[in-house]
Parts: sequence; C-alpha cells; structure tokens
Amino acid sequence: MFNFSFENSTHIHFGEGQIAAITDAIPKSARILVTYGGGSIKSNGVYDQVATALRDHTWFEFSGIEPNPSYDTLMKSMKLIRVHNIDYLLAVGGGSVVDGTKFIAAAALYEGDDPWDLVAKQQPITAALPIGCVLTLPATGSESNTGAVITRDGNKLAFLNPLVRPVFAVLDPAVTLSLSDRQISNGVVDAFVHTMEQYLTYDVNGKVQDRFAEGLLLTLIEEGPKALADATKHDLAVRGNIMWAATMALNGLIGAGVPQDWTTHMIGHELTASYGIDHARTLSIVLPAVMKVCSDAKREKLLQYASRIWQLNEGDDASRIARAIALTEDFFTTMQVPTRLSHVELADDAIDGLVNQLAAHGMVKLGEKGAVTLDVSREILVAAL
Ligand code: NAP
Ligand code: FE
Repeated sequence: MFNFSFENSTHIHFGEGQIAAITDAIPKSARILVTYGGGSIKSNGVYDQVATALRDHTWFEFSGIEPNPSYDTLMKSMKLIRVHNIDYLLAVGGGSVVDGTKFIAAAALYEGDDPWDLVAKQQPITAALPIGCVLTLPATGSESNTGAVITRDGNKLAFLNPLVRPVFAVLDPAVTLSLSDRQISNGVVDAFVHTMEQYLTYDVNGKVQDRFAEGLLLTLIEEGPKALADATKHDLAVRGNIMWAATMALNGLIGAGVPQDWTTHMIGHELTASYGIDHARTLSIVLPAVMKVCSDAKREKLLQYASRIWQLNEGDDASRIARAIALTEDFFTTMQVPTRLSHVELADDAIDGLVNQLAAHGMVKLGEKGAVTLDVSREILVAAL
C-alpha cells in the first residue's frame, strides 16, 4: 500500500428524521443561505423540514441550481451573499446542489478577478464559507468529500479542496423515496463506478481498501435492483444501504493508499458537456469499454473482481475477464442505464469532437499509470460504440 494521510471531518447524521439535527449543527449566530435546485424539495416536504429545523436561525434562500451546475447560475448567488452578509451555506439537494454550493463557498471569498479560475486554472482556494448539507440523492459522495464538478460554456471541470468539504451532512433515506427510477438508477451506478475507479487498477496489497470496495460493490449490486422493484422500492433499509454505500464510495476511505483511475469519469464529463447525457449514464457507457481496452494493465484486479464479485473461478483468464465485464454490463442493464454510445443515439462521428475536448481539457494522460493517452481514449470510445 502507498503512504497516505486520511481525514474525513464531515459529521454524518444518518437516519429518518435527522433533518432536525441541523438545528444544533449550525451555530445560532450564523447567517445562512439555503441553496437548492429546481423544486423537488418543495414537493417532497424536505424544504418544510429544513424550515422547521431553522425556525430560530436567520436564513435566506437561493434556488435554481440545475443538474450539472453552471457557473452562470452559481454566480447569481454572489449578490445575495454580499447583501445579507451570509457566513454559512446549507446545501439541500443532490450532488449538483452540493457541488454548486462548494463553488459558491469558494467563489464568495475569492480575491482574484474571476472565480472560474478556481476551476479552469486550479487557482488555490485559501478560504471558503462553511457548508452543511441535507442530501436528497445518494450518488456522488459530494456530501462528505472535497470535490465538485462545475460547467461553463460546454466545459465540465472538477476542482478539489479540503476547505469545501461539508462540515456536516444529513443522510435521511426517507427523503430519497420521492426519487424517480431514473435518478435512483443514476445514483446507484455513479456510486458503483466511483468504487470501481478506486479498485480496478493494480494490486498494491491494499487488502482493507479492496475488501471495503468489494463490500460496497456487492451491496450496490444487491440493493440497487431492489430500489427499482415494486415490492421493495419503498423499503427504507434498502434506501439506507444505498445511501450509506454511496457516501462511503467516495469519502476518501477506499481510495486512501491505493492507485486510482478516473478515466471513466473524465471521458464521461465530455459526454455530458457535449450532449447533456446524465452523468451516471455516461459512466455506464464508458466503464465497460475501459475494462475491455485496459484489460491487460488491469488483469490481476479484473481476475480478483471476477472471482470475488461474480464468483467466476473456472476457465482461462481471458474468458473469466470477458464474463465479468459482461456481468457488469448486465447489472447496468438491470439498473436501466445504457451501456453503448448507440443507446444514446451517438455514432462514430461523435468521437473526434470528444477526443478534441479531452485534449482541450488536458486529459491526455489518464489512468492509474497515466497510460490512457488521447489515442487510448479514442480506442475506448470506439469500444463503447
Ligand atoms: P443531481 O443533478 O443533483 O439531481 C438530479 C435530479 O434529481 C434533479 O432534477 C433533482 O431535482 C432531482 N432530485 C434530487 N433529489 C430528489 C428527491 N429526493 N426527490 C425527487 N427528485 C430529486 O444528481 P446527482 O447525480 O446527485 O449529481 C450529479 C452531479 O454531481 C453531476 O454534475 C456530476 O458530475 C457530479 N458529481 C460529483 C461528484 C463529487 O465527488 N463531487 C462525483 C460524481 C459526480 P431538483 O433540482 O428539483 O432538486
Ligand atoms: Fe460520479
């Protein structure tokens, strides 16, 4: 295992009714901006629960943060923050709201000319407003990690900084009951791929991380379909397991001290930026192709994955790996997400543009060893057709 330093300071309040915990989690003296999306929290009662919990606090609100949050939308909050002397942010929503709020937190205290430089030029973040979070969509892990993904003019880019890690996160599985099947699927698949991207690399004897990752993969494979099935979709235990798995999949724990390969996410971001495809649906298209094209470099871990996740212990290496990839695709199909570019009406004439965008964004040495050049990314996109 590599050397590592690990900290995850986010205080998790898990379980039904835990939105009430924000009353004590945010100082009474705080001047809060509650941030949210397009209104799901108004129709499912989450907004009312937050308002009740904050009845003795001073708070204002900023709504309209869209999926794949845009710089232009987020910057509209700056005036509110100045006018009301906001010193605390409470993100109420899915990954887009949490990511967008992370950008707002850093942009509000940025002293340079254009806060987009924090993302596009990776300018150092030296201060950020504190963030609390009520998560309504289990998927991204953003509720307790340091990352965020922001879009501007067709450029979908990530930034990372410990200063934007939420101070606390409320994970109430009951608030996920109002999710559409599409958003449930997206969340399970995003969490699955986050786990795979920290697991499916090469062996560095990270036995603890491997077993944690395998536990998360097995949980998502078991519970994901239940959250779509009529008989079990309202089961809070199912929702709770998915919610906690998604948080654990990207809170730093399973990635500590092991190689990571974010190729699938980086190619996926270009698909979303160019064609507006849901984040998770880009991942379910790209991951199987990465597994195929990079199968030599990932051989040992692919065989471990085949054995421990899919109980494939017979036959030669190549056939076990092929079967494990096919079963991964079957899982995605069960979760009702696409596994080919053709499933989202894209063909080979899309590939040049996507590769050019990867080049423009410096994504020229992806993968756990930097071996995924633009040519390899092209091969992956061809394999995904
Ligand atoms: P999302 O974009 O936050 O939300 C998708 C949709 O779900 C929205 O329309 C939202 O509606 C709705 N929704 C949320 N909670 C709901 C609920 N309880 N009931 C009904 N509808 C609900 O989805 P996401 O998958 O969580 O986030 C995706 C974003 O996160 C992408 O931009 C992706 O790139 C990014 N991401 C970040 C990380 C990270 O580490 N930071 C990792 C992976 C991906 P409303 O707007 O009306 O609420
Ligand atoms: Fe993701």
